[in-house]
Amino acid sequence: MHQLDPTLEPIYEQVLQRNPGEDEFHQAVLEVLDTLGPVVAKHTAYKDARVIERICEPERQIIFRVPWVDDNGDVQINRGFRVEFNSVLGPYKGGLRFHPSVLLGTVKFLGFEQIFKNALTGLPIGGGKGGSDFDPKGRSDQEVMRFCQSFMTELYRHLGEYTDVPAGDIGVGGRELGYLFGQYKRITNRYESAVLTGKGLGWGGSMVRKEATGYGTVYFVDEMLKTVNGSFDGKKVVVSGSGNVAIYAIEKVHQLGGTVVACSDSGGYVVDEAGLDVELLKEIKEVRRGRVSDYAQQRPGARHIADGSIWDVPCQVALPCATQNELDEQEAKALVTNGCLVVGEGANMPTTPAALRVFQDAGVLFGPGKAVNAGGVATSALEMQQNASRDSWTFEHTEQRLAEIMRGIHERCAEAADEYGVPGNYVVGANATAFVQVADAMLA
Ligand code: GLU
Repeated sequence: MHQLDPTLEPIYEQVLQRNPGEDEFHQAVLEVLDTLGPVVAKHTAYKDARVIERICEPERQIIFRVPWVDDNGDVQINRGFRVEFNSVLGPYKGGLRFHPSVLLGTVKFLGFEQIFKNALTGLPIGGGKGGSDFDPKGRSDQEVMRFCQSFMTELYRHLGEYTDVPAGDIGVGGRELGYLFGQYKRITNRYESAVLTGKGLGWGGSMVRKEATGYGTVYFVDEMLKTVNGSFDGKKVVVSGSGNVAIYAIEKVHQLGGTVVACSDSGGYVVDEAGLDVELLKEIKEVRRGRVSDYAQQRPGARHIADGSIWDVPCQVALPCATQNELDEQEAKALVTNGCLVVGEGANMPTTPAALRVFQDAGVLFGPGKAVNAGGVATSALEMQQNASRDSWTFEHTEQRLAEIMRGIHERCAEAADEYGVPGNYVVGANATAFVQVADAMLA
């Protein structure tokens, strides 16, 4: 049960009525509204202009058919989405997710989060998200290419470097972005580099974009640790997932002196007390598109657990980097019992509301995804900047910009938490500062 500020309750009720069955979207909206009571009390102009209602309603929602032909010659039909949620701060910006679980409500939850995440970066990007229920797993490169080409054949008309700029998310990486960009270029006859981000380094991509979400997550958590005079040095860390976010979070934790002892995929998790070998993991996941069970077979001392929860592995820092609602109340309790001090969300909304309460009650420092994982989209904005100036920066320069941006986000969240009388509460801090930035721009 939730207990919202009385001025916000009717707004939430309307969101429920307008968007039936979209549980994840409801959850994302509730999580934000739940923290806004003191913000609306302070900024009375928001109520008269109905700014909150406006922010909860996407500016535009596009749903389209994606027909394609598989390797057997059979016709397949998927559904494509793009939710253009809010463009007050810049062109819609947010990734594309290809996963069989994707529904309109999934894309809306992600698009809603993206508005605030993008605002937190301080860079000129609005919020959007897209995707499809297409499952790239087990598909040949040719099939993925035909799907991506068909997807872009509809989506291209809605995109543009000043309009809407997608990137990757779960199931969409360099390969998919290449097929999508090629089709956009062919249809429009424009080499419009900044229409997509996460591009390959040889054709307009940015250094550090691939690493950015994971690295940024660790930079943010490092700042959190500093507030309690701590650091990653000597810490035991668990990272769920083994995709792009997880791999580069593991790499950065190791660079900062911590040890990541477990990671996972949909087939289970692997424990490696000596510390995960990132190069082996990259080879398995990025080159061979294999499973973490392959890792356990190849790495002496590592073991694979097919069922059970990765959050049973004791650690001081937990970085959920897989997917939404992957960490529930029981798992949160297990983490607390085993001495976990800090949780940083590398994925979008991986912690259930009940699990979040467990962490907050136990005094665990908790960093919400929209702040912690903003380094990915921030580096996308840096990619757009390089494309606009027809330039490309070095790895060192780009990583330095990313680190500065993450420090800035941490500082603004911490300051806002102080301002609203809840020091160290990054959930309130992130929502309040991002919301005020978006709402003020809308009023203006
Ligand atoms: N999908 C990423 C996210 O959740 C990145 C989006 C982007 O770079 O546009 O923020």
